[in-house]
Amino acid sequence: MLIQDEALVLRRTPFQESSLVIHFLTKNNGLLSVMARGIRKSGRKGGDRRGALAGFHTVQLESRSRSLEAMGTLTNVEITTPRRNIPTSAAALAAAQVFLEVAYRFSVAGEFRPVFMQTIESCLDLLDAEASPLELLALCLGVLIRDIGYGWRTDECAGCRGKEELIFFSIKRGQVVCKPCGTPYIERLVSISDNILKNMQRLAWPPPFGVLCVAEQALLYRIAVSSLVKAGGKMLMTDQPFRTVIGHDIFTQEGYTPTEIRLS
Ligand SMILES: [Zn+2]
Repeated sequence: MLIQDEALVLRRTPFQESSLVIHFLTKNNGLLSVMARGIRKSGRKGGDRRGALAGFHTVQLESRSRSLEAMGTLTNVEITTPRRNIPTSAAALAAAQVFLEVAYRFSVAGEFRPVFMQTIESCLDLLDAEASPLELLALCLGVLIRDIGYGWRTDECAGCRGKEELIFFSIKRGQVVCKPCGTPYIERLVSISDNILKNMQRLAWPPPFGVLCVAEQALLYRIAVSSLVKAGGKMLMTDQPFRTVIGHDIFTQEGYTPTEIRLS
């Protein structure tokens, strides 16, 4: 069986002495695992393939397998959209890894979901064009959360269905909560500014850069990561490395979140 598809490399797992199992996000085949034989050997041919598989590029892959169920062997891979800037910035690199982990965590083999792949690609394009990594994650993770089917409810209160004074967000419910309903449970809720609420409601594309201050970006990022952790039932491994690169103090600003709850 021959598969030709556009793809992003999500993970690489060493296999035996010289091979790698590559986990791709593909446009037409969802999550696709392919064996890249001899890729870790030296030599020019291996070198070209290694280059295509090492970064955050969109590639065109070709894989052959004996049957639909058997893991294919990578027979060709070429870069179609290079993204060479991302690894030159530690913050962009850490942010790209968050996007790829989300893509890996919420993709399924064989699933046709071109919009999801397009959004991930667009996020990587923006990182490659030197968009602010924290701002980009803050603005785009909500879009991905919506795309994978765990979208936030931001139109009415989770308690009374009212539409006024929506000043809290419940990670557990994935929904906003109004001031009267939320005040008794303040320690379990996240306080959100009007500006954050507006951005959670809008989830515009392309992302509206320049509308959130850094503290708001950090809080929205934490809300998004906590929502992903809840949806996936597992920590995001790339979250802490990203926070370390950006600086942990941004994520724990006193006075900004009156309730310093365990967001993640
Ligand atoms: Zn209410």
